[in-house]
Amino acid sequence: MGEGLLADAGLRLGSSGAFALGGVPLEDVAARVGTPVYVYNAEAIRERYRSLAAALASLEHRICYAVKANGNLSVLRVLRDLGAGADIVSGGELDRVLAAGFVPEHIVFSGVGKSTEELGAAVRAGVGLINLESLEELDHLALIAAAARSPVAVGLRVNPDVTTETHPYIATGGGGIKFGIPVDQVPEAARRIGLSPHLVLRCLAMHLGSQLLDPAPFAEGLRRLLRLIHDLGPAAPALSVIDVGGGLGIRYQDEAPLDPSTYAATLIPLLQSTPYRLHVEPGRFLVGSAGILLTRVLYTKHSGGKDFVIVDAAMNDLLRPSHYQAYHEVVEVTPRGRRVQVVDLVGPVCETGDFLALDRAMPGVRPGELLAILGVGAYGFVMASQYNARPRPPEVLVDKGRFALARRRETASDLMQGETPTPLTHEAT
Ligand SMILES: *Cc1c(COP(=O)(O)O)cnc(C)c1O
Repeated sequence: MGEGLLADAGLRLGSSGAFALGGVPLEDVAARVGTPVYVYNAEAIRERYRSLAAALASLEHRICYAVKANGNLSVLRVLRDLGAGADIVSGGELDRVLAAGFVPEHIVFSGVGKSTEELGAAVRAGVGLINLESLEELDHLALIAAAARSPVAVGLRVNPDVTTETHPYIATGGGGIKFGIPVDQVPEAARRIGLSPHLVLRCLAMHLGSQLLDPAPFAEGLRRLLRLIHDLGPAAPALSVIDVGGGLGIRYQDEAPLDPSTYAATLIPLLQSTPYRLHVEPGRFLVGSAGILLTRVLYTKHSGGKDFVIVDAAMNDLLRPSHYQAYHEVVEVTPRGRRVQVVDLVGPVCETGDFLALDRAMPGVRPGELLAILGVGAYGFVMASQYNARPRPPEVLVDKGRFALARRRETASDLMQGETPTPLTHEAT
């Protein structure tokens, strides 16, 4: 395994021969909080943020953290304290970022299906930008915005029809998918916004997809946005922001990540002589490498010519392997140097699709031993479910040698909260 992955997370082998994250021995976290547990390294998040901000320093810009990658309030606090804005995709995320103290003006509301309630809440909160994804949504917001004291600033999320090399579930900027307004409808959208006394067109936006490793699609998409702005001309007099979305890819295995300087070098030449402020919306890039999932080995078994390692984390805790066929590196928290075996690492959930790693060559492990699954800071806990009535795991934040519980483990009563056997079921017999 590459040293890069360990360094990205802030994982180091301590003198005791066991891994520590951000200076905190992982065996201690597991002993105190139990397993499975997500652990995030605040300092690794800060390093990512600062490297991106430094790379973009020559442009007027704002980094709006895509909250859907990891919405834990402690993680949000780390990013807010760095000066980040937020990119949100639901009313629930709006509540989270307001609770974490983000400046409403620095919030961008994206998403293909915002409801009346969500749009109303965003208008009342005074979010900085609402990025629209259809003409119908535009007309709907124009009605809702009539209640606001001043015109509501909007962006148009354009589908620039740029193809990207990533998993089909996370490619969002090509033709024939649900996201964004097609280029040929943008002039009509700008016209309708111009006619509304309650809306002002402030931004053109795109988001091409996630886990992109090649900077070329960003340049292609940005050129299309700039051409559109040129063509709109006087139809968009207040346009001052270009939002290139998120999508910066990280290292999960041995891929070369898209580093911030390469990314910035793609954007800067196209934007430096324009009057527009840049918005970027990274999620995965800021938090993905900073998180691990600790899990304990329950059993091992040999069956049908295969070796299985059964651990206490499952697809309900970390969905990415079964949903996206995602690869996550797995390390022993205390490496013991046993002979390497090829195993399937699986959880207790009653689904054959419940796996964390397939056909993985890793040192032999025994029940009770602790494993760390790397690169789960983004799209990890946020996609967790309670399937099989499994309580969702706790989340821990480590910062410079100290650690604290950022969210407690769910309990059996949490699982049944809000549920009652209805009178109807009593009457049935
Ligand atoms: C998901 C999303 C992002 C973040 O994507 P990452 O790949 O995590 O950087 C940014 N903008 C929008 C509109 C999104 O939907």
